[in-house]
Amino acid sequence: MPRVYNFSAGPSMLPLSVLEKARDELLEYGTFGQSVMEMSHRSKEYLSIIEGCEEKLRALLGINEDYAVLFLQGGAWTQFAMLPMNLMTVRKTADFVLSGYWAKKAYTEAEKFGSANAVASSEPDSFSYIPEIDESKLDPEADYLHICFNNTIYGTEFRGIPESAAPLAADVSSMLLSRPLDTAKFGILYAGAQKNMGIAGLTVVIIRKSLIERSPEGLPSMLSYKVQHGAASMFNTPPAYAIYMMSLVLEWLESEIGGLEAMHEINREKARILYDYLDESRLFYPTARKDSRSLMNICFVTGDKSVDMLFCSEAKKRGLLNLAGHRLVGGVRASLYNAMPIEGVTALRDFMSEFEKGHI
Ligand SMILES: *Cc1c(COP(=O)(O)O)cnc(C)c1O
Repeated sequence: MPRVYNFSAGPSMLPLSVLEKARDELLEYGTFGQSVMEMSHRSKEYLSIIEGCEEKLRALLGINEDYAVLFLQGGAWTQFAMLPMNLMTVRKTADFVLSGYWAKKAYTEAEKFGSANAVASSEPDSFSYIPEIDESKLDPEADYLHICFNNTIYGTEFRGIPESAAPLAADVSSMLLSRPLDTAKFGILYAGAQKNMGIAGLTVVIIRKSLIERSPEGLPSMLSYKVQHGAASMFNTPPAYAIYMMSLVLEWLESEIGGLEAMHEINREKARILYDYLDESRLFYPTARKDSRSLMNICFVTGDKSVDMLFCSEAKKRGLLNLAGHRLVGGVRASLYNAMPIEGVTALRDFMSEFEKGHI
């Protein structure tokens, strides 16, 4: 079976060797006579999977003991609410950088629980860049400052980690594990696994333990960081298979790729191939401002919607799938998450170049 190159923003490609390992272990995990999908999540065998997953994540990202790792459900969307419910609880105010659609969703969900303040925004310019944060606008006493590190829909990302007196909260759904990240600079990080870490159904939260103390009593148990941490992410049945898949992806990152520095190098090379082509192209042009370009999601247009659509449908015939931009913005978007091989990116570039010759 020829495998397609899937450029979707999520769910996205998985490394072939991860799928093969999952296939080999589908009917029987180890010598336990059953599939991971059938195991009791309280069994000794399963505990070693979830604990191993956390250990590998900690090792790859260098997460220190001041931080808890939680394996939750409900996607990043649930974190948009869980975060203010648990942490916007001291002064009931938090600052938000509006750098895109998801950043704004985090902001509007938080408004339901307290005073959410937009301190910077690139919305008037169609979210085409990461807005500058004017430090004098930040409330040093805010419960947290929220950013969306990589804006999946607009293809922009932060160049550095912003400085702030308030704890930094970040949606890292579409960039976690794509490169090293100094987790100690953040109060809390969260990401759905289906972009760069595994399959849908699992949300990873990395949170400074001292912040968990803020969780007020009386929250619904499932939505309390304190309850989830107290139960070691086993308050109810965790997304057991998704956690197993993530542990395979972490193993792949560690043993086949060689860690996050090596992954970053590969991701930089992949993005460079496309941006270099885009900067020369006479048909396609990139939509993100140069200083804000994302390594993970590369957005571009021809300026003619019907040509954009034709390009996506012709690309599909070549096994280059899911290139249409988000329904809100249209255009073309190539998501180059970790599992997208360099060959997929060169195949896309070569097809773009061929298409360009026929359309100018
Ligand atoms: C995909 C995405 C979301 C939404 O994630 P769900 O897991 O579907 O809730 C939120 N934020 C960012 C940055 C995303 O890329």
